[in-house]
Amino acid sequence: MSIAENLKTLRNELPKEVTLIAVSKTKPIELLEEAYQAGQRQFGENKAQEMALKAPQLPNDVEWHFIGHLQTNKVKMIAPVVHTIHSIDSLKLLTEINREAAKANRTIRCLLQFHIATEETKFGLDEAEAHELMKHTLGSDFKNIIISGVMGMATYTDNQETIRTEFRRLHKIFTTLKSTYFAADDRFKEISMGMSGDYKTAVEEGSTCIRIGTAIFGERNYQSFK
Ligand SMILES: *Cc1c(COP(=O)(O)O)cnc(C)c1O
Repeated sequence: MSIAENLKTLRNELPKEVTLIAVSKTKPIELLEEAYQAGQRQFGENKAQEMALKAPQLPNDVEWHFIGHLQTNKVKMIAPVVHTIHSIDSLKLLTEINREAAKANRTIRCLLQFHIATEETKFGLDEAEAHELMKHTLGSDFKNIIISGVMGMATYTDNQETIRTEFRRLHKIFTTLKSTYFAADDRFKEISMGMSGDYKTAVEEGSTCIRIGTAIFGERNYQSFK
């Protein structure tokens, strides 16, 4: 199947309100162009340098989504181009994003990343940390960021019930944050969850934004990007 066919198949099975992010990490620019030609406008990358290199090579109506762990010293590389950063896990990172966004004269959307999987290795906040972060955020006058929702990755497993439980938890966290801090702010609306192996379950559990790599571009070869 071609990239265009894969995109078409996915779009046909997704509800209209769900955003499809094409995760293009490790993939050469020609394949992103192929997806762009097929109408795709949201792309996801997980390395700052790779996003900074690719962004100028595609038309500027592309929305760039940063989906990987982000070190504060890398924020300035992506601040001029990134639309949404899905991986906020500290006040320090949020502060730096606001600072670099201001320098670039831009507003960057930010999602709070939650640790919902049982695996040790996944990054993200727990609920207590998120409330702590929100208290500090409300006290700061961040003018160049918009906290627009939550993101999470489920455990890497074939057991869809485990995955479903984790996505349901993320949805619940979203609802709690929404009613506590964003009841009057309709910009807080995104639940970024679901990848190639679990997006159907994610959509059933209320995902607004799925991040799909393999099911669009095929398997990744981590040596292939230069
Ligand atoms: C790589 C990646 C994806 C896409 O994974 P696929 O299984 O290839 O669809 C989604 N989200 C994050 C955070 C990723 O790092």
